[in-house]
Amino acid sequence: MALNDTPGASAEPGPDVLPQRGFRRAVVTGGAGFLGSHLCEELLARGTEVVCLDSFLTGGPGNVAHLAERYPTQFRMVRCDITDFVHVPGEVDLVLHFASPASPIDYLQLPIETLKVGSIGTLHALGLAKEKGARFLLASTSEVYGDPQVHPQPEDYWGHVNPVGPRGVYDEAKRYGEAMTTAYRTTHDVDTAIVRIFNTYGPRMRPHDGRAIPTFVRQALAGEPVTVAGDGLQTRSVCYVDDLVAGILALAGSGHPGPVNIGNPHEMTVRQIAEDVVAATGSRSPVRFVERPVDDPQVRRPDTALARRLLGWQPRVPWEQGLASTVEWFAGLRQAA
Ligand code: NAD
Repeated sequence: MALNDTPGASAEPGPDVLPQRGFRRAVVTGGAGFLGSHLCEELLARGTEVVCLDSFLTGGPGNVAHLAERYPTQFRMVRCDITDFVHVPGEVDLVLHFASPASPIDYLQLPIETLKVGSIGTLHALGLAKEKGARFLLASTSEVYGDPQVHPQPEDYWGHVNPVGPRGVYDEAKRYGEAMTTAYRTTHDVDTAIVRIFNTYGPRMRPHDGRAIPTFVRQALAGEPVTVAGDGLQTRSVCYVDDLVAGILALAGSGHPGPVNIGNPHEMTVRQIAEDVVAATGSRSPVRFVERPVDDPQVRRPDTALARRLLGWQPRVPWEQGLASTVEWFAGLRQAA
């Protein structure tokens, strides 16, 4: 169960919780990806028009086809590579910069693309926010903490990253993105925010993206052995996507610059996650231990005190419930295939 938090419990709105503003028209880079598509969906549900910019490098139009159908005038999908240029006609009051390969399999296969979208892509997205006078939010990551020597990780921990290790392309791109975002705030007065996202799961993850939960669910549904790296005693803290989206939009609406950790502090061993997935799928798959990837972090748990205090946010979806929804979605994919 949760180690320092109780998913499902409601956050007490404390005296420091910041007032919220709404947005009329948002640009979401990487909007056809896993997180981006859920963000587009929630923004539209709240009455915000959305322009989604995506190259379909690791996401795809299938993730947002239902939005184009449901919101024919409020939603626009534009296929473009934001490392070339970013141009959006008309007013924009929010830019959510989510474009980037995000799973280890993706960024290990796409190292230069990952560095380019984190650097040049971030520069272009910041330029758009500056031109429009819009609020800007950078999707950063818990990976900026690297293999952490402080546990759990608070926002003022500077991290333990190997810049020349295989994961350096992602971790350093995000660290650079944070520095660039901060420079646009201090030099150009752009209203910026940085969210450090911890591992998130839910519908629309790709079965072969190499992240633990989709891999385990795919293997368990197929009745194959579930492959756990190392001895499986390394920990992860996983957040259901609906909770993450609520936290990100609360940070966007708050005017706070961050960085703010958004994630679920409910820490589990990878082995426990695998066993729960097998149980949730009703599979008889055995657990098989495989070699541990280089620089795989040993522990990972967000300190979410700041998000609770400033945003009145904490995760609400219990692991069992989020896992059941995720399994149901992956089972539907298999049936459709
Ligand atoms: P994803 O791969 O599903 O989505 C990323 C999207 O960005 C894809 O649709 C891809 O096509 C698009 N993209 C990549 N390069 C592009 C470019 N040059 N121009 C335009 N579009 C481009 O990944 P995700 O899990 O949804 O992650 C989204 C963001 O959140 C990423 O920035 C990632 O670093 C961050 N993040 C995610 C997690 C997580 O657990 N999912 C954790 C930490 C941070």
